[in-house]
Amino acid sequence: MKYALVTGSSRGIGKAIAIRLAKMGYPVLINYLKNKEAAEEVVATIIANGGQAELMPFNAADGKAIEAALDAWESAHPDDYIAVLVNNAGIRKDNVLFMMSDEEWHEVLDTTLNGYFYLTRRLLKHMMPRRRGGRIVNMASLSGVKGLAGQSNYSAAKAALIGATKALAQEVAPRQITVNAVAPGFIETDMTKDLPQEELKKLVPVGRFGTAEEVAAAVAFLVSDEAAYITGEVININGGLYT
Ligand code: NAP
Repeated sequence: MKYALVTGSSRGIGKAIAIRLAKMGYPVLINYLKNKEAAEEVVATIIANGGQAELMPFNAADGKAIEAALDAWESAHPDDYIAVLVNNAGIRKDNVLFMMSDEEWHEVLDTTLNGYFYLTRRLLKHMMPRRRGGRIVNMASLSGVKGLAGQSNYSAAKAALIGATKALAQEVAPRQITVNAVAPGFIETDMTKDLPQEELKKLVPVGRFGTAEEVAAAVAFLVSDEAAYITGEVININGGLYT
């Protein structure tokens, strides 16, 4: 069976993507860091809607934890492989650069960028043999396309992810693997709940924050068979805020 793995799918955008991919027929691996209860609810929702899902907890910033989780899954699933990877886990630790601590810099880079590196390298082992093909979608951000004040760490991580997307797309295209990114603007999730939404939505031409489901719809398209000729691309999902 062909599985999909969505990092950070206990909440927010990752949860909406997991639910959407399950509706497309993929058994989905629900990854999280701390929030087991929320992750179990996502599994229950998918199963209640006739889909398949199981938990796969690991810290996306920890290469050894990723290896251990994948080794265990492969032993339990000798005839299955992971054909879809959505590198979605991410955190914000905003600060102006001159005040930014080592921890704020490294934690954001480690989660987004090192997480991408460790997990994608590991899962190419599933996608590359016998030209089985695959789909990789990376969760970038408006912050990585435009740069946002107070987010040097986050903008750097997301911009690097876009560069990594374009490089890998060219490496693996002959193996029928596509690698794309989506770059959301302001999306209503826990990550943005501390932001002044009333003020910020005035900046958005569409006049509102986006929904996690609107991001999931673009990811579902990139994962679909119809998107086989789209690779190395970044889809902006920002209500016209910046293109
Ligand atoms: P969120 O609501 O804060 O959810 C974050 C998710 O990532 C949770 O499932 C969390 O797991 C998981 N996570 C965090 N660190 C992790 C780690 N080290 N290992 C594994 N899982 C980890 O965030 P969101 O708004 O849905 O954002 C999802 C992605 O979209 C992020 O990459 C973010 O940068 C990007 N993005 C968001 C927006 C926005 O406006 N919301 C805009 C542009 C881009 P736990 O539940 O266990 O904590």
